[in-house]
Amino acid sequence: MSSNENSEKPSPEVMLTFYRRLYPFKSIYHWLNHEHAPTRLFTQREFAFTLVGDVYLRYNSFTTADELKKQVCQLNPTRFEIGPVYSARPRDKKTMRPGAFNPILRELVFDIDMTDYDSIRTCCSGADICKKCWGFIASAVQVLDSALRNEFGYQKLLWVYSGRRGIHLWISDKEAMELTDQQRKAMVGWLTVVQNRKEGSKSLNVRTGGKLPPSLQNALDFLRHSFVDLILHTQECFKSEEGYEELLKAIPDSLLVKTLRSKWESKPGRSSEDKWSDCFKSMSADKNLMTALEDIIIQYTYPRLDAEVSKHRNHLLKAPFCVHPSTGRVCVPLDLEMIEKFDPKSVPTVFQLLEELDAIRVTEDQNTELHSDWEKTSLKPYIDIMEKHAFDLMQEARKEKLKSDTSW
Ligand SMILES: [Zn+2]
Repeated sequence: MSSNENSEKPSPEVMLTFYRRLYPFKSIYHWLNHEHAPTRLFTQREFAFTLVGDVYLRYNSFTTADELKKQVCQLNPTRFEIGPVYSARPRDKKTMRPGAFNPILRELVFDIDMTDYDSIRTCCSGADICKKCWGFIASAVQVLDSALRNEFGYQKLLWVYSGRRGIHLWISDKEAMELTDQQRKAMVGWLTVVQNRKEGSKSLNVRTGGKLPPSLQNALDFLRHSFVDLILHTQECFKSEEGYEELLKAIPDSLLVKTLRSKWESKPGRSSEDKWSDCFKSMSADKNLMTALEDIIIQYTYPRLDAEVSKHRNHLLKAPFCVHPSTGRVCVPLDLEMIEKFDPKSVPTVFQLLEELDAIRVTEDQNTELHSDWEKTSLKPYIDIMEKHAFDLMQEARKEKLKSDTSW
């Protein structure tokens, strides 16, 4: 299975078979449209295609799932992206007068990428990812998911593995879809606690009068656990000199920094856990230093968001179930409960799925017309997640409709 890793890129033939026989266009349609019959949520929605040779085609729109499928099979893109719902059909954009064509609705989206954890993860570097560093993503997902549900009241959250080393979140609640760019920006600002600084990471600046905002205070217990598991045990972030120097930068007491540094220099093998306990012993009696310890926990474990993705309604985001062009892995939706134990290498690649299709062909009666080929492949559990999510959205839309039909 792993022999395909980083060695083979999906060919146009492979991609075409994938789109023809496996890509769940119907589920994508239901998810975006919230109803069976086409609404503007689908018909005025932008699709952008990336073709072989990085040709980029924007402002496509379609009336039905079949129409989308037909076009995808014709263009055979390496991937495609989903944009907002506009005030008119994107394909008519050229005929519109300027100013009459604007984004009006859009899922609230978030992107968490391993790139933003490169300065602290110790197991892999570059494009690599493993089960260990996935822990950063998993922990970020827990915190963000709970903040968005409990503090913002959103319920229609879909998490999608990006196919390489990150995860996307699509929120389809009506209230989220209607957010303006201004509101999105404010929200992201509120959720962005840890700035992705390249260097010079000093203490955080999130307290007012020494106190944390309530959302962070609520997350702190969870973050403490992640800190021990992930930073101290799994990643051993403070074991190397580079790692502990980074930690020392966040301690606002130069005398103490000196003492700790000379202790750690004399014991090069000292574990991250022991070093943290050195900090704790010498800091916990002082209220200010105790605050610094909390800030370090937040700095290392709080979700790091790619803010630009979330701020603007017209930011395009790769569609679920696309194939990552360099890994061949499918961008699959994930259940929240799956995310903690998720192993990116367990996600089916397009090559593996086509092999599975071939195996079916051998065992099935040649004359059987398969209704949905994906039903018999390892893509099925992921499509089931999407179907269930889309069904929830459709239920909600039906309820809303009933309400507006009977209230007047
Ligand atoms: Zn790793």
